[in-house]
Amino acid sequence: MRKSKFIDTEIGITIRGQTWRLFTYKKFPKIIIKEVKYQRPNISITLGQQNPLVGSYHLQIRKLDYSGRPTEISTETTLRNETSYDIDLDHGQYILEITHHDEVIAKSNKFEIIITDSQEHLSISEDIFISKTDEFSPHEIYASLSATPTAYQELRNTKIEGLLPILRQLIKVNDLSTWIKPEEKLDEFFNQLLPSWVITAYPFSAITKKLWKNLHVFPQKSLYGGEHGKGFMKAKFANGPINLYVAWSTKQDKTQLWLMVPGEKDTIRFCDLEETLMLPCYQCIDCGEIIAPIAMNFDNWAPKTIMDHKHKKHRSVHKQFADVGNVESLQVEIHQYRDEKIEHCDSPFSVIENGFISELAKGKQQAETGEMEIPINPESAEDYKIAISEMVSKYSEKNYELNLKQLIGKHELWKKLELEFSELSSKVSAFNAFFRLYQCLKVPNAFAAIPKHILLLAMLLRYKGHHPQDYKFILDNAGTDERTVVKLTHLAMTSCPKLMEWSIFWAEIFFHHTAS
Ligand SMILES: [Zn+2]
Ligand SMILES: [Zn+2]
Repeated sequence: MRKSKFIDTEIGITIRGQTWRLFTYKKFPKIIIKEVKYQRPNISITLGQQNPLVGSYHLQIRKLDYSGRPTEISTETTLRNETSYDIDLDHGQYILEITHHDEVIAKSNKFEIIITDSQEHLSISEDIFISKTDEFSPHEIYASLSATPTAYQELRNTKIEGLLPILRQLIKVNDLSTWIKPEEKLDEFFNQLLPSWVITAYPFSAITKKLWKNLHVFPQKSLYGGEHGKGFMKAKFANGPINLYVAWSTKQDKTQLWLMVPGEKDTIRFCDLEETLMLPCYQCIDCGEIIAPIAMNFDNWAPKTIMDHKHKKHRSVHKQFADVGNVESLQVEIHQYRDEKIEHCDSPFSVIENGFISELAKGKQQAETGEMEIPINPESAEDYKIAISEMVSKYSEKNYELNLKQLIGKHELWKKLELEFSELSSKVSAFNAFFRLYQCLKVPNAFAAIPKHILLLAMLLRYKGHHPQDYKFILDNAGTDERTVVKLTHLAMTSCPKLMEWSIFWAEIFFHHTAS
């Protein structure tokens, strides 16, 4: 066993031809990252390792002071001492991490990437031009809406009077404190969670670090690709299956998970339940089995449960069963469980209203006026209706009608962009949630297609912000150029600014939070 070349070596016993896994013997490989060099687009990595082990290593780049997910470079079964990969990174400070099953096993020193102008592919800089009034040049608004997330993160604490609401949405989405309270303890960590359709196409599997129990978790609300969330877990007990309430959160690569018995029996929306009304679950410290108590007091537990977990030891029940819902938590690593698709408890239909455009045009519905929320409410269609109302009302003015017709007229380009995005969706996870929303928008006529066009445009602009180096390729593949995008952005910002704001919000959300 000691000589195994694998990190995880399964130890099992075989009884009547069936092998039972007893435990996994884990060796920790000693790896140091000696050097990281970056010469766009090439990153070269020098490692030092004793007895290289076979495992499943993820190499990822973490940008310092950035709340989003680290950028995956590669997954390897063995690590070579000298490697290089192609990856696009913008300027900033980074560290390279090597993880194994979500555990960071090596970290590099901090390194800085400085990108000089001559290295830029594109003519227009990524600066944000702060537009305080409605007067902005096509160039300024395009550069602002396609600026990097770092540029927006830097504006977080700057007070700017009269800033365009669309730019305030971008600042808000890029501000970590909109979503979580990083200073708080893990159990008071959430500010605002997003519906699971934004995050993932699959359920999660949470593996406990103690005794390797695999928990089948269905997120209902979540953040940052699944690093944090709430939902339920399907558990089977002697007296039948039960759905347990689950909440989890990640801080500095450590994920803690809480398990509780929901107070209400027939609930579907576990994410909305009040935690103070729940009983914590327990974990047997010897065998790792999860116990969903029927009563708070151990005296009221089934004697059989207590007997079954004596494990020939003389411990008090308080020591035998660890509270994993209240006092303590489970340390887990979370993975996507790609063998099945998740059924979302909220769908993208909850943030749109398909019939609204035509009913509004026919006068069957009242226009919704007023400002949209900042950030836009991710669980209601109210902001969408405000955006659509503005678009329909602008359409009745001659010059805006012409603008909107120009946008509709680009159907060739929209079709090509849709195709490009669908090809990218296996590589850039944001496009998966984008398509979940995009496909919900029904288009009975050309006019009703405008929200889809604007959403495509918003994804294109934020794609530039998040993947500046790949942006040029997508323009080439779609048979268009930057000048055209500048022009379309300006048309949209003048004739349906609120729809643009709504779309940019969702695009930015997808780039930060979507895992699959
Ligand atoms: Zn893994
Ligand atoms: Zn036990």
